[in-house]
Amino acid sequence: MKFLLRPTGAQLIALAQCLEDHRELYNAALEHRRIVYAKTRTTVRYGDQSAELKHIRADDAQGQGRWSFSSQQSTLRRLDRAFRRFFERIHQGRAPGFPRFKSRGRFNTVEWPKDGDGCRWNSRPEHPTTAFVRIQGVGHVKVHQHRDVLGIVKTISVKREGARWYVLLSCDDVPVEPLPATGSAVGIDLGVCSLLTTSDGEHFANPRFLSAGVKLLSAATRDLARRSRGSKRHRDAAARVAALHGKVRRRRLDYAHKIANRLVRSYDLIVHEALQIVNMTKRASPKPDGNGSYLPNHAAAKTGLNKSILDAGWGVFLRILVDKAESAGREVVAVNPATTSRMCNRCGHTAKENRVTQAEFACGACGHTAHADVNAAINILRAGLALREAASAA
Ligand SMILES: [Zn+2]
Repeated sequence: MKFLLRPTGAQLIALAQCLEDHRELYNAALEHRRIVYAKTRTTVRYGDQSAELKHIRADDAQGQGRWSFSSQQSTLRRLDRAFRRFFERIHQGRAPGFPRFKSRGRFNTVEWPKDGDGCRWNSRPEHPTTAFVRIQGVGHVKVHQHRDVLGIVKTISVKREGARWYVLLSCDDVPVEPLPATGSAVGIDLGVCSLLTTSDGEHFANPRFLSAGVKLLSAATRDLARRSRGSKRHRDAAARVAALHGKVRRRRLDYAHKIANRLVRSYDLIVHEALQIVNMTKRASPKPDGNGSYLPNHAAAKTGLNKSILDAGWGVFLRILVDKAESAGREVVAVNPATTSRMCNRCGHTAKENRVTQAEFACGACGHTAHADVNAAINILRAGLALREAASAA
C-alpha cells in the first residue's frame, strides 16, 4: 500500500537528509567491501558491517546517529543482497559488473523492517481526521491516506519520486473479504483502441487525460534529447520528464484501480490474455495499408513511448486485478491469446481476414459480424472456461 506524504518544510529537509545519510552509508559500506575484495578476494559479511554501525553512530551523533539503527541495518542488508547476486552470477560462470555506488538519483528508498522500530505507522491515532507516520529524526509526518490499511503493518518504507515522498506499507494477515457471488464470468480483451473490452460488450476507453499526458511527455522527452548533458537546461528538462512520468503513472494507476474494482465487483471469474510482448507489439503497430481510422490519439498512439507506457500499464493493471480478485475471493485465469482475435465466436472459423479493421470483425465463413474486441473477449472467456473445466477434470 502506498500513500502520499505531506511533510512540513522542516520535515522535507529532514527526509532528504535521512535519505542522503542512508545513501552515504550504503556507499561507504560498498567502498569497504570493494577494498577488502580487491586486497584479499574475500567478502565482508553483513554481520561485520552491522557490528560497525554502533561505532559509526557513536562517532557521528549529529549525523548518522540521528536515524534508526534498524533502517541503517536494512540499508546494509540491501547492499548484502546486491553482493549475493554478484557472487551468484560469478558462480554461474557469468561476468557481472561489481555492485555500483549509488548516485543521488539512484537511491530513493529507506526501509524500516518492523513497525514501531524507528518508524511508527498511525503514530497519532487520537487525531480525528489525519493519519501520521512517525519517523525517527523527522517527526510525525502527515499522510494522505486515501484508503484503509488492511492487515497488520509489517515493514514501512519511505520513497522519493521526483519532488514527492511516499510511505509504503507491507502488511501481514490481510483479511480476505469475499464478495457475494454474482454467477457471472467475463472475458477481457486488452487493446489499444479501447483500453479494455469485455465479453459483455462494455468498452473502457483510453481516457483523454492519459493521452494528453502522453503527448506532453513525448514533447518533454524530445526536448530533453536536444539539450546537452550536464547543462542546466538538461537538468530542468530531465526534471520535467520525471514529473510528467510520475503524473501519467499515477493517473494510469488510479484508472486501473477503478476498472479492476468494477470487474471484481461484477464477476466471479475474470479471464484475460496472457501478456506476450510480441503480441502486444504486433497489435500496437499500424497496418501499412490501414485506413488510419482505427488508431486513437493519432500521433501519440504511434510513438514508441506511448506503446511502452501501454505495455507497462497492462502488467500493472493485471497485478492490481489479481490482487483485488484474491482479497475478494474471485478467480482470475490467463489464456493463450494465439487465435482469440482471428477466430469467429459463432462458428469457430479462424482466419486473419476475419479481422477487417482494428475495430471490425466479419467472419468469412458464416458472415457473423461483431466489434472485433468484443469477439476477441468472448473467445477469451470461452478459452478460460475450457481451461478451468480441463483443470477440474484432471
Ligand atoms: Zn463464423
